Amino acid sequence: MTVFRILRVDLSREHFTEEVIKEDLLKKFLGGRGGLAAYLALKEIPRGGIDPLDPSNKLFIFSGPLSGIATISSSRINVTTRSPLNGVYTHSNAGGNFSYWLRRSGYDGLIIEGKADEPVYLVIKDGEPKLKPAKHIWGGKWTGGASTKIILEENGFPPDETKAGVAVIGPAGENLVKISGIRFSDYERFAGRGGGVGAVMGSKLLKGILVWGGTRDLSKELVDRAKFMKVNTDIVKRIATHDTTKVLHKYGTNVLMNIIQSIGALPHYNFGGTGKLKDVTPVSEEYIKDHYPTEVHGCYNCPIGCTQMPIIKSGPFKFSVTEKYVKQEYENTWSLGPNIGITDPEADLKYQKLANELGLDTISLGNTLAMAVELAKNGKLNLDVDWGGDPGAIEYLIYKIAYRDGVGDDLAEGDYRLAVKYGMPQLFSGSRGQGLPAYDPRALKGFAIAYYTANRVVTT
Ligand code: SF4
Repeated sequence: MTVFRILRVDLSREHFTEEVIKEDLLKKFLGGRGGLAAYLALKEIPRGGIDPLDPSNKLFIFSGPLSGIATISSSRINVTTRSPLNGVYTHSNAGGNFSYWLRRSGYDGLIIEGKADEPVYLVIKDGEPKLKPAKHIWGGKWTGGASTKIILEENGFPPDETKAGVAVIGPAGENLVKISGIRFSDYERFAGRGGGVGAVMGSKLLKGILVWGGTRDLSKELVDRAKFMKVNTDIVKRIATHDTTKVLHKYGTNVLMNIIQSIGALPHYNFGGTGKLKDVTPVSEEYIKDHYPTEVHGCYNCPIGCTQMPIIKSGPFKFSVTEKYVKQEYENTWSLGPNIGITDPEADLKYQKLANELGLDTISLGNTLAMAVELAKNGKLNLDVDWGGDPGAIEYLIYKIAYRDGVGDDLAEGDYRLAVKYGMPQLFSGSRGQGLPAYDPRALKGFAIAYYTANRVVTT
């Protein structure tokens, strides 16, 4: 019989419960984002306008039925909760290896509820959960990468994210920034979209989760193993040899930059720019790979391996030693580049790196920065910023947002609330209170329907 095993973690009582969801319910609601997590969230999260940062909100961190078994793009981990950005249901997902390690440890999902008295992190070793103090890694300098490393080290690992599943929040999550996300191993996988899932984790004083060990063999749980393997092998063969896969492996999702630009669908200047931005070649992946050393990586067991991780070694935007690579995607590159008029690849990559380290959703961050520029140009915000203006000013604002410092406190509320606060809600382009991603619906009309009808803004 197929079951879904949940570890329920009550942070208020420091109490763990194991629960099993049986097959009859799983047939109605598959695991992962839209099914079981949505069903349980609707059942368990109190209704009636509770504050999403109240301890009564819950985090459902769920794998899907194929996570850790099948090999094409199935190693996703989903986070479902009530969003602090817009107050309603949301989900956010990331790739990497977390779902594999979670399932191997014996659990298919985690439900995190309540609130700890002091910062803690959760350790699950061979299926045995334990809470450990995290006061020493809470506040200030403890970025996503640094927190991941120390959690690994404290538990006897080298700083190698491929050896265990780790989920952490950065300063933005701790500071309850409404556009913060959760960083997953391995290497800057991010549950970013969805509106502040990192802040929900921060509100519970949960800094991170480490999971490893276990002996569960998922393939033994398949109802018809031989049939599944035959179908899976066939799919893998076809996808692995497909031309699109080859392009994705070589250039990653940012191969879209030139394509979307060529059809006039690349949003820019807070969705206010019309036609094409002059030249986006320097932030296209073809250019970036030609000019910067880039590692190529993939999520657990995925033969596509689309992840591009360039390094900036020198110049004003060079990464520090502990921040070696940036995991880069098309939407991140658009959002923190052309969206705000920036086509300097080094500035763009550095902003992406900062967003990942500080724990911010790159898309919402770019939208919020774009809103800030437009409000400043309208004389509503006293900031010295412009489209494609001083890159240092943008870097400064990113820190301000993550630490809710000064004007950053307003920007930490996201683009919609920022526009409303400064009296220009008409400048907001979004859906369900969240800014739009990297496809202009005026040129790609199908996206307009998707944005309008999605239960939260689409795309990763
Ligand atoms: S490597 Fe790329 S295609 Fe494969 S699961 Fe990860 S993000 Fe998806």
